[in-house]
Amino acid sequence: MRGLSCRLPFEMNKDLKMPILLAPLFFVLALTATAAQAFEPKAEQVVDNVYAIVGPLGQRSAENDGLNANFGFIVTPDGVILIDSGASRRGAEKLAAAIARVTDKPVRWVINTGSQDHRWLGNDYFSGKGAEVIALARTAAAQAEFAAQHIESMTRVVGERIKGTKPLPAPKTLTGDMLTLELGGEILELTYTDAHFAGDAWVWLPKRGVMFSGDLVFVDRLLGVLPWSNVKNSQQAFKAMAALKPTRIIPGHGRVCDLAQAQRESGDYYDFLADKVGAAARDMESLSATLDRYADLPEFMHLQNYDGLHRANMNRAFTEFESQ
Ligand SMILES: [Zn+2]
Repeated sequence: MRGLSCRLPFEMNKDLKMPILLAPLFFVLALTATAAQAFEPKAEQVVDNVYAIVGPLGQRSAENDGLNANFGFIVTPDGVILIDSGASRRGAEKLAAAIARVTDKPVRWVINTGSQDHRWLGNDYFSGKGAEVIALARTAAAQAEFAAQHIESMTRVVGERIKGTKPLPAPKTLTGDMLTLELGGEILELTYTDAHFAGDAWVWLPKRGVMFSGDLVFVDRLLGVLPWSNVKNSQQAFKAMAALKPTRIIPGHGRVCDLAQAQRESGDYYDFLADKVGAAARDMESLSATLDRYADLPEFMHLQNYDGLHRANMNRAFTEFESQ
């Protein structure tokens, strides 16, 4: 496709009729190619009235409107509770369309599990539609702190498609480390994990055994340790989550999974970072020798993004544990 379009100007010189005849065809083909790449979120049922929207495993892009993460919603008799609102206004509109294909009930609540772009930059859209946007206090504070930076980086990725996106940190903030909320008979427990970003949280549905882990759990792809992530907190939060024995987990990224898979692909990796890399850092071993020693880990190498993230993850974990 791209090769053919590139050659078009040269063919124009040889035969002027060709491009006139072919132009509409190329236009249609170009549109079809764009449509084929565009990500349209789909709701999948996890248990009765609880749905996950699973985003692609790759990077943010204009085609996915930054929705390379997971979202979810609960349909209650009193309206819909949405977990996380997408990375832009357009992303939020796409999530709203996925919900509307399941229920005509309005989104009453949006609960944010974090401050990374895809967790909350759609807040303003849902708030404009009458939803109450809720987060723990430190989650909302981190949203305000990262707002300008995340709008800037999303603009670099999606370009024009960021238009209309206004960062709205959750207006309703909750104090305390663990909060129980109820809407339409659905009980939700919101608890800090402070894993990927400070102020990250999970949403636990105790009656259902369903966990929306936020960016504490990644499956199918390797989790990323960012400069502001905290491996020690993540390890502790993962153990606390496992103690709840969730039957279904909607991870931050990757397909809906059970606890065993979350343990293998996130929990065990946090243990590795904290117990192996962390121990090397505390023992003042050499950073480069440590990174080389653990470069190839068969138990995690099958995960997407391993090649791009694993070394940087170890590097950041080493720095974190070095300073303790
Ligand atoms: Zn994420």
